[in-house]
Amino acid sequence: MYGKMQEHLSKELSNIKEAGLFKGERIIVSSQDAKIKLDSGQEVLNFCANNYLGLSNHPELIAAAKNALDTHGFGMSSVRFICGTTDLHKTLEKRIAGFFGTEDTILYAACFDANGGVFEPLFSEEDAIISDSLNHASIIDGVRLCKARRYRYNNADMNDLEVQLQNSQDARFRIVVTDGVFSMDGNVAPLDQIVALAKKYDALVMVDECHSAGVVGETGRGVTEKFDVRGQVEIITGTLGKAFGGAVGGFTTGKKEIIAMLRQRSRPYLFSNSIPPAVVGAGIRMFEMMTETTELQDRLHRNTEYFVTKIREAGFDIKPTKSAICAVMLYDAKLSQEFAAHLLGEGIYVIGFYYPVVPQGQARIRVQLSATHSIENLDTAIEAFIKIGKELNVLQ
Ligand SMILES: *Cc1c(COP(=O)(O)O)cnc(C)c1O
Repeated sequence: MYGKMQEHLSKELSNIKEAGLFKGERIIVSSQDAKIKLDSGQEVLNFCANNYLGLSNHPELIAAAKNALDTHGFGMSSVRFICGTTDLHKTLEKRIAGFFGTEDTILYAACFDANGGVFEPLFSEEDAIISDSLNHASIIDGVRLCKARRYRYNNADMNDLEVQLQNSQDARFRIVVTDGVFSMDGNVAPLDQIVALAKKYDALVMVDECHSAGVVGETGRGVTEKFDVRGQVEIITGTLGKAFGGAVGGFTTGKKEIIAMLRQRSRPYLFSNSIPPAVVGAGIRMFEMMTETTELQDRLHRNTEYFVTKIREAGFDIKPTKSAICAVMLYDAKLSQEFAAHLLGEGIYVIGFYYPVVPQGQARIRVQLSATHSIENLDTAIEAFIKIGKELNVLQ
């Protein structure tokens, strides 16, 4: 039986390879950090992790995880509503709500699940979902699982959003959905204007803070802090897998009736396992650290500004960024791959992105800054960029 399918898959896989679109995996044999070790033995500076605050290998989180292993064990062997809820899960949900200034929180195994399970329980045929064109795949999938009418507006384009709000006036409920930070450009959603338009047209607002939480805003509370609209957004989703420790786990936080309904009807919550105590225990400690001091957020902001300023001064063409993502534009797909390979030779690990991950002719190197990078690390990367930039005639 398998023969026919095997042939088909082998052909497809070689097509992917021939198109230069095959995704490999680089093997890391150390913990996640500013400097990592590859299985080749090479040590490289990592500029492609979502480890924005440097918490992936933080001793306090490791200690908190170990402690939770001792007190609450390894696994829950249950979904939340059967016997998968511990005091730790409830504490973490409260801490997340406290951090974002929301009413209640529901945890998921990942933000992919949070986004996948947020629309279907709340919206149906009479309703409309108005989504930014660059929203994350998990939002797109979540919207697909629900029967509401779909509207799309061009990335961060407020005129287009207003048109879509006018086109959907007859819906019972409407919600505008946006990423906080768009991961390929590093731009932020203009949430103040989105909230104003939503008020004008009587719509709800949902923001996915995966790349913005911990990063954007004076104290890292995300785009709702940056645009001073805390409490004016009905639904926030986020991940524990990026700035917040980088392990695993997602959440939806917001209005209490919404969260209560998700606990009744959200399928990834009802039918998928509870996150393990070690992750939850570390998460609790992490949110404590976030509120005790803004040292890590401050370091991240300083590092980002330092890198972006220097790389721009060197003559590189970069996308305007309001996050810890710096997109160095090369435009040509092949050049982006060559540039990244040369940088790896210099001990700098970054990824070159090209179509279809970014629009055609918009290839780039995406650099992600972290609070764990030292100024010396940043200087090493900047020097390598300049060296390779000259070698490959990107810089004069
Ligand atoms: C990473 C990401 C997700 C998925 O988060 P996971 O917890 O890794 O599933 C969802 N939305 C956005 C915008 C993201 O960047």
